[in-house]
Amino acid sequence: MALLRRKKKVVEEVEAPTPPPASLPDPPRTGEDGMRVMEDHRDYLLGLVEPLPYFGMSLLDAHGLTLCEDIRSETDLPAFDNSQMDGYAVRAEDIAAASQGEPLSLTVAGHVAAGDDGTEELAQGKAIKVMTGAPIPPGANAVVPLEFTDGGDEEVKVYEPVAPGEYVRVRGSDIHDGDQLMSRGQRLDARTIGLLAAAGIDKVLARPRPRVVVVSTGAELVDPGRPLERPGQIHDANSFMIAAAVKAEGCQVWRVQVASDEPEAVREAITDQLIRADLVITTGGVSKGDHDVVKQVMPSLGTCDFAEVAMQPGKPQGFGLIGEDRVPMIMLPGNPVSAYVSFQCFVRPVIRKLMGVEPLNHHPVRCVAGSVMRSAKGKLQFGRAIVREDNGRRLVDLVGGHSSHLLGDLAACNALVLLGEDTEVVNAGERVMVWMLDND
Ligand code: AMP
Ligand code: MG
Repeated sequence: MALLRRKKKVVEEVEAPTPPPASLPDPPRTGEDGMRVMEDHRDYLLGLVEPLPYFGMSLLDAHGLTLCEDIRSETDLPAFDNSQMDGYAVRAEDIAAASQGEPLSLTVAGHVAAGDDGTEELAQGKAIKVMTGAPIPPGANAVVPLEFTDGGDEEVKVYEPVAPGEYVRVRGSDIHDGDQLMSRGQRLDARTIGLLAAAGIDKVLARPRPRVVVVSTGAELVDPGRPLERPGQIHDANSFMIAAAVKAEGCQVWRVQVASDEPEAVREAITDQLIRADLVITTGGVSKGDHDVVKQVMPSLGTCDFAEVAMQPGKPQGFGLIGEDRVPMIMLPGNPVSAYVSFQCFVRPVIRKLMGVEPLNHHPVRCVAGSVMRSAKGKLQFGRAIVREDNGRRLVDLVGGHSSHLLGDLAACNALVLLGEDTEVVNAGERVMVWMLDND
């Protein structure tokens, strides 16, 4: 009955969505160079999106999602005393004198397997054969493992005594009725899902997986697997890379390619996607070139913000609330490394806000520079780097150069080194902060 009561509550409790703001609030102030500080831009975007409303969903569907309720157990676990081993349920005092030299014989009065109701009472001087997980018969207080006996079915010889309580998994020894199993804000992983299932819970209140559409734009793009038919074409890396990174955050993702820089083609493709998206991410077409079509087109579809952020790579950034439903859209630059670094700075926190996952932002980790690192003043520089353990210290070395087309180095790195606006040189042995990239 208790479980049914819970289910009813779960189905009824649905959060009302918060309406998005009608227009974009004032953007953060820029420095003398006209650029925004990375954290200011990120916080600005975070202020423009709301967590997705939660609802009751089945346990497995909630894997990786954030729980929006506290859950208490409505049962003891184990729910009944049961056997930890295949063996014989006994009264420990009946076999206290058993030894290898002088085994004790007991009549086997019954057999109980896991799943049997196990109500048969154990009489003094007898044994009941039990399998692992079988209920302990009333009257028994211990289990003699099969290995301590001759394994007999009618009569059993016991060669070793056991203490009262031995090899018995006592009711409530894992979880007590009323214990808190999970708290609001916790992410459901395989282990917590296992715990809830064991406690008989099949539905939870959680925020859904955001539906994210990743759109790459550019007349030069060709899908991998297809030949490059004319000079100037390239294979589309971004939509795959960003879609994979989005998926690794736990979202449902669709990848769309617009191999065009024609305003009408981009407008149409984006408009088509709005219906199924909680978030749209585009790459390409937001800098100052002649064909930066995303920047040209998007203001006609919603309220937009285009900015230069004092970071390298990833300077040009765009954001919009698009279409009737004001779907959030993050417009990333086209260079693959710029797109990826921008993902880490802006998209990942926004996705985490939609999902209600804390912390929103990367937790910087302190490392020791393995060699000298140089950075342009006035910009936050993200260096691709490899972090390794070295005698209990975390040593970090840059891989490759600063250019934002270097996908080989990006693929080889496991961290981003953050070299701040005021940093020009970091010498070997000095401390630097990094973001580890071990989750996608
Ligand atoms: P854009 O931001 O559109 O000016 O593009 C900047 C650079 O990134 C150009 O060299 C583009 O060819 C490249 N680029 C744009 N989109 C992609 C993509 N989806 N995959 C790989 N490279 C891209
Ligand atoms: Mg382009």
